Amino acid sequence: EVRVRFAPSPTGNLHVGGARTALFNYLFARAKGGKFVLRIEDTDLERSTRESEEAMLQDLSWLGLDWDEGPGVGGDYGPYRQSERNSLYKQYAEKLLQSGHVYRCFCSNEELEKMKEIAKQKQLPPVYTGKWARATDEEVQEELARGTSYTYRFRVPKEGSLKIGDLIRGEVSWNLDTLGDFVIMRSNGQPVYNFCVTVDDAIMAISHVIRAEEHLPNTLRQALIYQALGFPMPYFAHVSLILAPDRSKLSKRHGATSVGQFREMGYLPQAMVNYLALLGWGDGTENEFFTLEQLVEKFSIGRVNKSGAIFDSTKLRWMNGQHLRSLPSEELTKLIGGRWKSTGILTGSEGLFIEEAVELLKDGIDLITDSDKALSNLLSYPLHSTLKSSEGKPVLEDGLSEVSASLLAAYDSGELLGALEEGPAGWQKWVKSFGKSLKRKGKSLFMPLRVLLTGKLHGPDMGASVLLLHRAGTCGVVAPQAG
Ligand code: GLU
Repeated sequence: EVRVRFAPSPTGNLHVGGARTALFNYLFARAKGGKFVLRIEDTDLERSTRESEEAMLQDLSWLGLDWDEGPGVGGDYGPYRQSERNSLYKQYAEKLLQSGHVYRCFCSNEELEKMKEIAKQKQLPPVYTGKWARATDEEVQEELARGTSYTYRFRVPKEGSLKIGDLIRGEVSWNLDTLGDFVIMRSNGQPVYNFCVTVDDAIMAISHVIRAEEHLPNTLRQALIYQALGFPMPYFAHVSLILAPDRSKLSKRHGATSVGQFREMGYLPQAMVNYLALLGWGDGTENEFFTLEQLVEKFSIGRVNKSGAIFDSTKLRWMNGQHLRSLPSEELTKLIGGRWKSTGILTGSEGLFIEEAVELLKDGIDLITDSDKALSNLLSYPLHSTLKSSEGKPVLEDGLSEVSASLLAAYDSGELLGALEEGPAGWQKWVKSFGKSLKRKGKSLFMPLRVLLTGKLHGPDMGASVLLLHRAGTCGVVAPQAG
């Protein structure tokens, strides 16, 4: 059975890198009909917080990455917080002590520091010398009787190598001679990270460990622990780093990096998920637009790239626009209309106005938050006053004054408003006869009209804009201040 896990440390926010790891695990599990387990790695008690854990769970839920086992859901392999599994780690540490894979090390911190210094002078790797690995039973009993505190150290084979087959990177191998015996349990009885992860992955029957590349050095230690405990090794897949456009490690100075930040900026979870999947994966075609369901269908770990993926926030923004426009129009209207009402950008509101405004403006919007500016831009020149004044309008070399005079006449006589009352057909008919009377058509008619009626040189479809401005004036939608 395929069982994968996402194992965040609750010491901050869920970053895009972590979210991508979670996503790949989720997709792998769903594609294989397996289980997606969530485990909270809160062994660092100083830095772990419940708030961070809750925020991470919320972010994962927002992305739609629901887990089959873990906090809030339960499961047969719980508890799913490492801080609640201490007795288990102790039990396995004792087992390794019995089997001789682990030994007690009574070295004090000062002694260890000294060893490091000497190694440095001799230009040797700063690894443990193995002093207590060779101790006799009597020496050990003596220290125990004295009450000297001790750590548990793992006995690393002094030569040879270890290799794993990585599903993304191929074969990865290490020489063991420079590793040195490492601690698996501190003198205060606190188990060390690599040990907890191994025990958990084994006991939780994790079949595939899919995680960030930066954990590769841990994999070596974990593989040794697997062997010592006699557990079957899972498959490993190490996903490459996410890089900034300058190919440095993505960090705060490159802008938003946490899922929560993107949510607050108005990004859609569908777009985030789609974009994160493309960081190192593609289905082999030109297609880049995928829903979560489509990703489940297409995803394969073998297609994950082993080189670093560049995080391009411009592309993410573009992608959000794609997803926004692919929403059913009712949903989009509800989303954007709801925002306009809640931000107070619309005081009065009429369903049809919102519907038409969304339809008109959506092509110029990538983020929900862009819709505020798009609407206030449109409404900053209310039809009734914009005709009377040239204030703030762009200057056109050709025809502005001539067209302006006739347009004002058409407005004052009620002819223009009458046409607008009849909707798109009325507008089109009016424009045609208006152009005819001035002997203008095409650009020489539309440019001055656009400037005079909307106050701008460019914008969405003019007819629809003008009709909408007219509707705004008649349905009590209060236009915000210009600017
Ligand atoms: N807790 C680790 C982290 O947050 C993940 C460890 C793992 O996936 O094995 O980076």
